[in-house]
Amino acid sequence: TASSNEEAAAKAAVDTGGPTIFDKIIAKEIPSDIVYEDDKVLAFRDINPQAPVHILIIPKLRDGLTQLSKAEARHGEILGQLLYASKIVAEKEGIAEGFRVVINNGPDACQSVYHLHLHVIGGRQLKWPPG
Ligand code: AMP
Repeated sequence: TASSNEEAAAKAAVDTGGPTIFDKIIAKEIPSDIVYEDDKVLAFRDINPQAPVHILIIPKLRDGLTQLSKAEARHGEILGQLLYASKIVAEKEGIAEGFRVVINNGPDACQSVYHLHLHVIGGRQLKWPPG
């Protein structure tokens, strides 16, 4: 199925530290549906949404944050800004009463893009536990 193919590709993806597709989105070299932006973070709709609302929030400056497990103390401020932006985005999308914030870290979590990103998911009843 399409989703198991995506899972297989994501499990095979590794953190090379090289450029990602998100660099082109930040540079606006490829189109994205931006829902929120400030000087530090960019939020845009996921191209393969898993719910009626599915938005990615990324730091504009990756600064070594290919994945959450690379975080260092100096990243505390941007990590807080990303999480705060998830609340702003949820409010803008009208899902503040119920939404989920997810970070996939590494192959076992099916991370496919090695530029830290928060998934903000909502607009339907979400199930727990996740897959
Ligand atoms: P992850 O699997 O946590 O690394 O999530 C990466 C996400 O990026 C996936 O949900 C993809 O659907 C999404 N994605 C990949 N390329 C694009 C793109 N060009 N525009 C928007 N979302 C994208």
